Amino acid sequence: MKAKRLVYEVENLSMDNNDLMVHETVFHNANGYIGVRSNYEEGYPQGYDTIRGSYINGFYDIADMKQAEKLYGLVEDKQTMLNIVDTQTILLKINGQTFRMYEGTVLHSKRYLDMEQGITGRHVIWRAPNGNEVEIDIRRMTSFYQLSLFTIEYTVKALNFSGTVEFQSLHNGEVKNYSNSKDPRTARDSARYLLPVDAEVDDDTSYLLSRTSKSNLSVCTGVKHILSKPCAFKSEIQGHCVTTNVETTIVENETIALIKYTVFCDSIRKNDCLKAAKEEMEKALSISLATLYNHQKTYLKEYWDNCFLEIEGDEDLTNAVNYNMYQLIQSVGKDEFCNIAAKGLSGEGYEGHYFWDTEMYIQPFFNLTEPEITKNLISFRYKIMDKARENARIVGHKKGVLFPWRTIAGTECSGYYPSGTAGYHINGDIAYSVVAYYLATKDIGFMVEKGAEILFETARLWIDLGHYYEGTFRINCVTGPDEYTCMVNNNYYTNVCAQYNLSWAVKIYYLLKEQDKLSAIVEKIQLTEEEVKEFAEAAECMYLPYDEKLKINPQDDSFLQKKVWDLEHTPKEEFPLLLHYHPLHLYRYQVCKQADTVLAHFIFEDAQSLETIRNSFDYYEKITTHDSSLSTCIFSIVASKLGLKDKAYEYFGDSAKLDLFNTHKNTKDGIHTANMGGNYMAIVYGFAGLRIKEDGLHFAPSIPEQWKEYRFKINFEDSQIMVEINHKESKFTLLKGSPKQICIRDQLYDLKESLTVAL
Ligand code: BGC
Repeated sequence: MKAKRLVYEVENLSMDNNDLMVHETVFHNANGYIGVRSNYEEGYPQGYDTIRGSYINGFYDIADMKQAEKLYGLVEDKQTMLNIVDTQTILLKINGQTFRMYEGTVLHSKRYLDMEQGITGRHVIWRAPNGNEVEIDIRRMTSFYQLSLFTIEYTVKALNFSGTVEFQSLHNGEVKNYSNSKDPRTARDSARYLLPVDAEVDDDTSYLLSRTSKSNLSVCTGVKHILSKPCAFKSEIQGHCVTTNVETTIVENETIALIKYTVFCDSIRKNDCLKAAKEEMEKALSISLATLYNHQKTYLKEYWDNCFLEIEGDEDLTNAVNYNMYQLIQSVGKDEFCNIAAKGLSGEGYEGHYFWDTEMYIQPFFNLTEPEITKNLISFRYKIMDKARENARIVGHKKGVLFPWRTIAGTECSGYYPSGTAGYHINGDIAYSVVAYYLATKDIGFMVEKGAEILFETARLWIDLGHYYEGTFRINCVTGPDEYTCMVNNNYYTNVCAQYNLSWAVKIYYLLKEQDKLSAIVEKIQLTEEEVKEFAEAAECMYLPYDEKLKINPQDDSFLQKKVWDLEHTPKEEFPLLLHYHPLHLYRYQVCKQADTVLAHFIFEDAQSLETIRNSFDYYEKITTHDSSLSTCIFSIVASKLGLKDKAYEYFGDSAKLDLFNTHKNTKDGIHTANMGGNYMAIVYGFAGLRIKEDGLHFAPSIPEQWKEYRFKINFEDSQIMVEINHKESKFTLLKGSPKQICIRDQLYDLKESLTVAL
């Protein structure tokens, strides 16, 4: 394996089934609207498992959620992201010999992801069983310039023969989703959700219109073929699948290219998908493929410029971090109809659902690099507020909203409520992200338009949920981030989130009142000043568990009473524990799937003394399995805060390489987008110690021993700042915008043009 900056490549491709499935994910193409897994065009040997999927962000059908006992309010159906179509399949025949990686002889093979060009590719030199040799170059792109568009450019060069070349290309609407009943993260039935409505075919172009079985949505895909030489295409339709054939001649050293365009249009965004697909196809064909590639490059140039990050002295890690940032821009939704799924658009794990991952792990990255994207993500939450209101009523709350733990279209989709709906902290997480966006941009207009309503309605929910006991405000029967401990009283993380949510609802209320911007919102949601006083009181009286003996914040009221899990003697094969132990068994132990109190110590660091944070870190570190990919990045950040440089670096490395090295053994189901955002945070919030607080920008710079220097750019308010940190000093340069004050290790500095401070 070899990796260069902004290009990730693998040579000597393996035909091991597991490697192939991991590469389907690692080399997938996506642009936030569509995602296509990277399957071989010609397929795999018979009997191989594969997830041959193409997806649309936010497009779903409804699937049954069987509940063994029909208790009131339990979720009975869920949204599920659909595999839309297979337009990847292209079979190549040279002189009658079908190209396959597992037949004949592969003389050279390589796959790559070029993150500057925004394409993936496969390069193969193949000798057919009859001795004919070809050089094959296949490039794929999901366009950032035209979100509906996916292209395959399939180039063939005859190296030692002249003869015939044939392509057989599929546009197949008869596809299903993947399922693996043994893994709860991919378990579902393998039903066919998309039903054929219409098909239109002429020689080189086809359109397939389908509708979902229950959600009443439609999707249309269009495919067009162009060959670099004059030729006649022949297409035929069978069922909801179109096969297009073309045959031509080739002479030694000649190169022939087939370009296959696919466009995707859905009825969530367009009224008439078939018409829209035709328009999108026309748009794609109105410029050359070379121009489309140029647009892709231009888009990414700007992206890389905004999220510039470089580590000197650690090329592998720089590559891994760049890979992760690339996946974030591939995965994140670009309109208010969608968000960013736990697996992006790279696979079917977690069924395309959106979780709290967005707000706590991914938005911090976009706040600093592409704040407009954060705005979109919050707008999505705003759009589903009515569903969140209904969700709150179902669960028994008279007031406020309860955002669904996992969803696509806004309703709750978690079947197992103890580690689903009970994760009320998602409300606090969303409120936190509204404040984080505001602090990073001071965009008061957006606060008035959408943010404040989210803050007020989530605050209302805490009031309805909690109650006073012995003078403090308590929150019972909820689940914190750690899913190995469910349905507990006073989860520290949840309570501290709720406190933040309540106190910011109060702040924003008075701020908007002062600026005379409040009336429309209070009228809309009938908010009274009495309620706002209740918010303030609950925040003030919030109970935050603290253990005098251990001098830590216990994860919840009963956590420390439980037996400690013996992690040291748990066999390696039994991780992740969730696949080997009954939930009840796990719940009875002190064992954490992921950062919980430690995460609270990162985002609400001023809520506790440094000593408490240190004690908590030591305590929870010993009982955390990091079975969730959302964990090591947070441990890295807090280790940095505590000056534990080696640990910070080790945790950071674990998180950086997770998907490229398949360390969680489930990359085949899709990338781990939250971990990717968390990995960025481990550098910027961890090593560089950035925080955006009410009084502005803070840094506490440090650098791992293994690095010479690292540099990154951030946006803050109207400015863009370059940060360069080495072993001697940290340097801040104002690249754009107005001068700023920066607090570096509690000392205030003025940043006018540039500023250098000793480390
Ligand atoms: C984690 C959750 C996370 C979900 C989706 C689970 O394994 O425990 O915190 O939201 O994965 O990434």
